[in-house]
Amino acid sequence: MNRTLTLKRGKERVIANRHPWIFAGAIHTERGPEDAPIGDLVDGDGTRIASGFYSRSSQIRLRALAFGEPATPELIAARLSEAIARRRAIFDEGTNAARLVHAEGDELSSIVVDRYHDVLVVEIANRGAEHFKPLIVETLQRELAPRAIFFKNDLPARKLEGLPTEDEGVDVATQILESGLKFRVNPVEGQKTGFFLDQRENRRLVRTLAGGRRVLNLFSYSGAFGVYAASGGASSVTNVDVSAPAIEAARENASLNGVQAEHVVADAFQYVRQKHGPFDLLICDPPAFAKSRNEVERAARGYKDVNLYAMRMVAPGGLMMTFSCSGHMSLDLFQKVIFAAALDAGRRVSFVQRLTAGPDHPVSIYCPEGEYLKGFLLEIH
Ligand code: SAH
Repeated sequence: MNRTLTLKRGKERVIANRHPWIFAGAIHTERGPEDAPIGDLVDGDGTRIASGFYSRSSQIRLRALAFGEPATPELIAARLSEAIARRRAIFDEGTNAARLVHAEGDELSSIVVDRYHDVLVVEIANRGAEHFKPLIVETLQRELAPRAIFFKNDLPARKLEGLPTEDEGVDVATQILESGLKFRVNPVEGQKTGFFLDQRENRRLVRTLAGGRRVLNLFSYSGAFGVYAASGGASSVTNVDVSAPAIEAARENASLNGVQAEHVVADAFQYVRQKHGPFDLLICDPPAFAKSRNEVERAARGYKDVNLYAMRMVAPGGLMMTFSCSGHMSLDLFQKVIFAAALDAGRRVSFVQRLTAGPDHPVSIYCPEGEYLKGFLLEIH
């Protein structure tokens, strides 16, 4: 049986906008089983107006999957299949890794599925959705017959939801192909689900730009941008990351592709203050500095600082690709931060191109919060 939530009077706009997150503050009363995975939101007349994953422990009480029709196992399975079908064009003989399900962007709030060649990695951030694990496994098996399906359980949100946070102890390390290049991916120990799939299109752009350039890849993680740059004919590639295991993985990925790169374990904030360079193409892809709204100001200072010093390392006429993956930092604010960094760096900077996540990371127009990755290709004089 489903949980029934009655909408508070005056909160009708919440539904009219079709935003999938229905907060506790919009709910007047609740009845039915507290641990029901599905909740139905009804209006004063008892008419169902939204239906989706229910979680009693979350401020987002309901993650709506449908507005009017009921959220059923069949609907969830169909959404999974649709999301997989949507990615067909991304896979070819050179690419066997991509995000298959991007939560709200695929009308499956709180569910993420990444494909790494023969391994699927699933992240579930909600108690109601967790109930459908068997259905998710069954659907993914039927659609893709992977070697393994791994549930990555270390999301901080799972703790708040009272869900287990330990990974199942299985070996799902694998090797992927992306744009004809090879990368080792370890979903258990790696950051995120093992690889930053969202940067695929931007890595391809780097490959087309790198010819003859000295390339610095700041916050390199497993060195993916660096491998693309080298394969695009860079005259040198330097990967910098504070994490020793990340740099070890970067080293392995370089040799897997038969390319040369320098590898440095260092804090990027210190590295950019030392005498290195100059570089003709600099990539700056830091982690999310703002994990919540009240950290945005501090994050903006961090982005400005690293961008300012990075700009000074770029040779006149060189390029810089700079990113923010903080969902709480708007494109507008990030642009202002880059503007302030350019002023203080004393360099003439122009925006050449706007950059976002690839098409396997669609954003629901009803849930713009899903657009977290933003970047600019800059030309620096
Ligand atoms: N560009 C990468 C993803 C970068 S993720 C890719 O396409 O695969 C951000 C990386 O920044 C992580 O690997 C993390 O270890 C690293 N990092 C975090 N803080 C850092 C710091 N202060 N200095 C250098 N690297 C840092």
